[in-house]
Amino acid sequence: MAKHNIRLIKSKRSYSMTQIVSLLKIDRKTCRCWLKKEGLRPIEQNVNPILVIGADLIDFLNKKRAKRRIGLNEGQFFCFKCHKSVRAKAGSEETIKTGKKIGKSNSDQYKKVGNCEVCNTRVNRFIGVSQQD
Ligand SMILES: [Zn+2]
Repeated sequence: MAKHNIRLIKSKRSYSMTQIVSLLKIDRKTCRCWLKKEGLRPIEQNVNPILVIGADLIDFLNKKRAKRRIGLNEGQFFCFKCHKSVRAKAGSEETIKTGKKIGKSNSDQYKKVGNCEVCNTRVNRFIGVSQQD
């Protein structure tokens, strides 16, 4: 899914479907699908043209984005091959200094690497110095 620029939407404005389509550079079909199936709420049902309040659209897109975000628990990695969070294979996990400095305190960046327990692909996870164990 493309990243929509939510900041372009003004919360107190109402938008017609045509305006939403051109503002977010999406297909009309995508917009119709949001309204019909995914719960984007128009101001009034069954009224033409369909109008959506900016605040509702922002809310809808934020929820959509949050749903896509995959949370990683402690010790988990994101495997790009499996496309989900996985644990590293026992014994394959190690912490490496990347040599980069991050954050305001200019602290060392570390990454944890390991092999995916499912498909054995190399997985990494960047961690700040504070999280290092
Ligand atoms: Zn995997």
